[in-house]
Amino acid sequence: YTSVGLMILFIAYIYTGLYSTMNLAIRSLMHSARKVATGEYDEPINIHTKDELSAVAAAMDMMRLSIQEREERLAIMSQTDSLTQLYNRQYFDEALDVSLANSLRHHTPFTLVMIDIDLFKSINDTYGHQVGDDCLRLVAKLLQHQYQRKTDVVARYGGEEFIAILYGATLEEAEVQTEALRKTIENCPINSGEEVIHLTASFGLAALTSPNMCTSSELIALADALLYQSKNSGRNRLSSASFSNDNSKIANG
Ligand code: GH3
Ligand code: MG
Ligand code: MG
Repeated sequence: YTSVGLMILFIAYIYTGLYSTMNLAIRSLMHSARKVATGEYDEPINIHTKDELSAVAAAMDMMRLSIQEREERLAIMSQTDSLTQLYNRQYFDEALDVSLANSLRHHTPFTLVMIDIDLFKSINDTYGHQVGDDCLRLVAKLLQHQYQRKTDVVARYGGEEFIAILYGATLEEAEVQTEALRKTIENCPINSGEEVIHLTASFGLAALTSPNMCTSSELIALADALLYQSKNSGRNRLSSASFSNDNSKIANG
């Protein structure tokens, strides 16, 4: 009886030990699964048992990494214009609100630059849509090259229009940079088969300096009005103004 009793106690001891180790491991896996479900991907999934559960943990960890990578890729895609790889309009709208709020809070000047390629329809009509696309990609590259501060945001606004937020740039600084960009575009021919295409672009620059205040749509309206002033005065040029309540007349045409 004593041996049988000891044997039962021994089995019960082993069973309890095993049960509590498994229980801990399962709780740890459930905790990790809950974190992944709420979008927290930074903590590796790892348990220290030498059984099938550690294989489950390794598989869950691979799943964590691939979900994280896929989510990051989707986030980048949702902000990017697929043709030019610049930021898209949606990202720009959010970035402009943030820049405007920061500018007002920290009394930092900033300039919005609206860019439109001149007579682009005739490039498409003459050389075809594919060549038109090449031109858009080239202009996008030149823009990125010119406006390359970390706080600059360069986006495709739609069609053959682009827009840039030059955070921290006064109107004069933005004019110097943009005039350099205008010349670069003018002097950067594109080869299409045997033809050489010369592009130009027109620009509207609207600056905001403290203590003036405006909404993002008021600043966009001013930049847009200035861009069309450049178009109407012959294209391939800049028009610029600082925002104040007086020049809302320009924005309203
Ligand atoms: P303006 O100097 O007054 O701006 O004249 P424009 O010809 O550039 O302006 P318009 O608005 O008449 O034409 C814009 C053209 O841009 C028409 C459209 O087919 C072309 N376009 C818009 N998006 C794309 C695109 O993604 N790829 C190509 N290849 N063309 C595009
Ligand atoms: Mg155009
Ligand atoms: Mg246009």
